[in-house]
Amino acid sequence: MQTDSLADRILNGDRRALARAITLVESGRADHRVQATALLDELAGAGRQALRIGLSGTPGVGKSTFIESFGMMLTGQGLRVAVLAVDPSSARSGGSILGDKTRMERLSRDKNAFIRPSPSQSHLGGVARRTREAIALCEAAGFDVVLIETVGVGQSETVVAEMSDLFLLLLAPAGGDELQGVKRGIMEMADMILINKADGDLKATATRTCADYAGALRLLRKRPQDPEGFPKAMTVSAVEEHGLEQAWDEMQALTAWRREAGHWVTNRATQAQYWFEQEVRHALLARLSTPRMRGRMGELGAQVSAGKLSPTAAAEQMLSGLSDQ
Ligand code: GDP
Repeated sequence: MQTDSLADRILNGDRRALARAITLVESGRADHRVQATALLDELAGAGRQALRIGLSGTPGVGKSTFIESFGMMLTGQGLRVAVLAVDPSSARSGGSILGDKTRMERLSRDKNAFIRPSPSQSHLGGVARRTREAIALCEAAGFDVVLIETVGVGQSETVVAEMSDLFLLLLAPAGGDELQGVKRGIMEMADMILINKADGDLKATATRTCADYAGALRLLRKRPQDPEGFPKAMTVSAVEEHGLEQAWDEMQALTAWRREAGHWVTNRATQAQYWFEQEVRHALLARLSTPRMRGRMGELGAQVSAGKLSPTAAAEQMLSGLSDQ
């Protein structure tokens, strides 16, 4: 694969080249990894940035309907939109998220949109790296907005929030008691909570749910990266396409404020640092998981349980074994 010409084609917005490059970063082959790293380095020089919007919500809340309506609204304004997914369960379920071709049918036909299903990787670390790299490729290809969807299984919300400029939580209209169902940690990550399905019979419940969440958000500790009034709860209807423009206006206002106040740059720098540390952790874990190191772990573990070696001394021996690999 010639990465040179691939880089030029990506920079020129060639979608097939972009799809091919994403396949390259998803590959587990060592030679592909070398090419992927070289390609990403080359493209980073272009310095292009998109607005990265993370979107989380449980299955059935309307994520794909929302992404389609919201995406169509954005492309209608002349913006180019890429959609990626983080789905740690896809290896098990055979690709649930974005895997179904009938999802986002209109958006997938839009020439200003690019939709990429989640890579089927079993562990979140691998999915996270590939998604970050796919985001970088989409930015180099000149997309204005990159939407990153997740169903919020396990740690996947944190993964998506740590690679997004804005993090949206999509919720369904529900009775007051169900407010407890959203974990506090997830609420704390959200920049905006959107109560979807605010239409027909569900409209009144959606309005009430929205007020409940607005109240709950006001009780959270104020974050330095939030201007007055944020995080914010709003109602939308993805099906009737209501509230989408208002939500977009709020996202733009928040983004403009953060850029002005320097939080945009700081946030990206903090995220880069976070991912660097994550990569080191994953690489170390991988090195500890080789057959030889696992064997060593078993031997040392047996000595620890027999009381022949202290846990600390055994750990030191284990780690010193890493350097002679
Ligand atoms: P996802 O699993 O979160 O991606 O949810 P989907 O987008 O597949 O939507 C799940 C169901 O909710 C579908 O039957 C949609 O038609 C419905 N739905 C999505 N958005 C809305 C909405 O704004 N209003 C109403 N009434 N139904 C919606």
